[in-house]
Amino acid sequence: MKSIREELWFDTRNRVEFVNITGDVQRIIDESGIREGLCLVNAMHITASVFINDDEGGLHRDFKKWLEKLAPHEPVSQYAHNGFEDNADAHLKRQIMGREVVVAVTGGKLDFGPWEQIFYGEFDGRRRKRVLVKVIGE
Ligand code: ZN
Repeated sequence: MKSIREELWFDTRNRVEFVNITGDVQRIIDESGIREGLCLVNAMHITASVFINDDEGGLHRDFKKWLEKLAPHEPVSQYAHNGFEDNADAHLKRQIMGREVVVAVTGGKLDFGPWEQIFYGEFDGRRRKRVLVKVIGE
C-alpha cells in the first residue's frame, strides 16, 4: 500500500471565507501515483472546516447567512468561551460544517457525484492555518 501526507496552508483575507481546494487535493493524488484508494481531507484547526458541496456563489452566501443566524459573531460577550478570545462563534460554525471529508479515489481521480467540490471553510481567519491531506491506496 502507498500513502502520501501533505498540508495545504491558508491565510484568508476575511474572517469567514470558503476556498475551493478540489484542484489542490487532486494534484496531491496525481503526485502520489495512487489509482485506487481513499483520500482524507481534514482541517487541523478547531475554528475551520472541510466540507463538500456545490461551487455556487449564491449557496455560499446562503451558508454564511445561515451560520451567522445560528451563531452570530457579535455581541462577542454572549459566549462563555470568549474571554481571552472572541472566536466562540467560529468553533460552533466549524462544528456544524464538519471537520473532514473522505472521498474515494478511482482510476486516480476523486470519485465525485455531480457538482461535488471540496471546500476549506474558514471561520476565524486572517492568520495562517492548514489542512491535512492523506491519501492511501495503490
Ligand atoms: Zn477559541
